[in-house]
Amino acid sequence: MNRLPYVVGNGALLQELRTMCRNHHLPHALLLHGEPGCGKKTIARWFAMLTLCAHPAAAPCGECRACRLIAEQAHPDVLEAEHSGKRMGFSVETVRKIRKEAAVLPNNGEKRIFCFLDADGMSVQAQNALLKSVEEPPPSACFVFTAQTPGVLLPTLLSRMTVKAVFPVSKGECAEALLRRGYAEQEVQRAVSRYDGNIGKCISFLEDEAVRQATELAAECTHAIAARDEYQMLRCLTAAAADRDRYRQVLLLLDTQIRDAALLTLDGSFDRLGCDRIGAEALSKEMTPTRTAKMHGAILEALTDLDGNVGSVLSATALCAALMRC
Ligand SMILES: [Zn+2]
Repeated sequence: MNRLPYVVGNGALLQELRTMCRNHHLPHALLLHGEPGCGKKTIARWFAMLTLCAHPAAAPCGECRACRLIAEQAHPDVLEAEHSGKRMGFSVETVRKIRKEAAVLPNNGEKRIFCFLDADGMSVQAQNALLKSVEEPPPSACFVFTAQTPGVLLPTLLSRMTVKAVFPVSKGECAEALLRRGYAEQEVQRAVSRYDGNIGKCISFLEDEAVRQATELAAECTHAIAARDEYQMLRCLTAAAADRDRYRQVLLLLDTQIRDAALLTLDGSFDRLGCDRIGAEALSKEMTPTRTAKMHGAILEALTDLDGNVGSVLSATALCAALMRC
């Protein structure tokens, strides 16, 4: 069975990396950035196969021993830095361990690959600890990072990396990928109507009942805010607040809906992050910069309440009143 990860879209990026591989110019440090769920980790795995595949002319083949081991996350030359701390960063201790490992020769192929996935929370100290290894890497070491934006990494670190964007795909490509994974047509359409071409978010929606509930509540709430329907707004927010985790998720989703609505007033061509385009469009009709700032502020306050152990139902009631005043 071929174990090549199914990468949807992003054909130009894959082709560019393949060409680099054939010309023996693969980057020694690569940053893949893009919104959550757009496939950065899948491409990172694909890149590891490209680098270590036993058939360079056809790399990544998805069938050789190296490719299979990478697919099974069992390749001895592909190491993933472990997350730690509240911000899910990497400890200086972990970075030091990786630096030591980077000096060790590969077990099998020519390279060892060190992955810092979801590096968004990586502290300045951890980045500084890694700087030297990325600046002057041992010939066999290759570093792969994924993050939402390049801005989370220090300019000194970034300047030594090949930085590539990963893009969400079209709705059609996303639906096709989900159907290939065996989801039912109707379910797929529902997920795609919420999250367009973001496969990761669509899969969470299909797999995780909590994500699905939060998504539907955030979408309903967006429509209620747009219609200034206080009763509906309160109903959605208090329903969400019955579970603190769900409430937090709904608040974060609402914030992205407000962001989308604000961007829609400026320009139609942007990467949508929220869960309901129609709701964001309805909301954008009466959106002003001041209203955006006030709504964002009200949601941040509700999130702070939640961290400060204010009861979530109380916080939902206060948020509803605040949003009505915006
Ligand atoms: Zn292979």
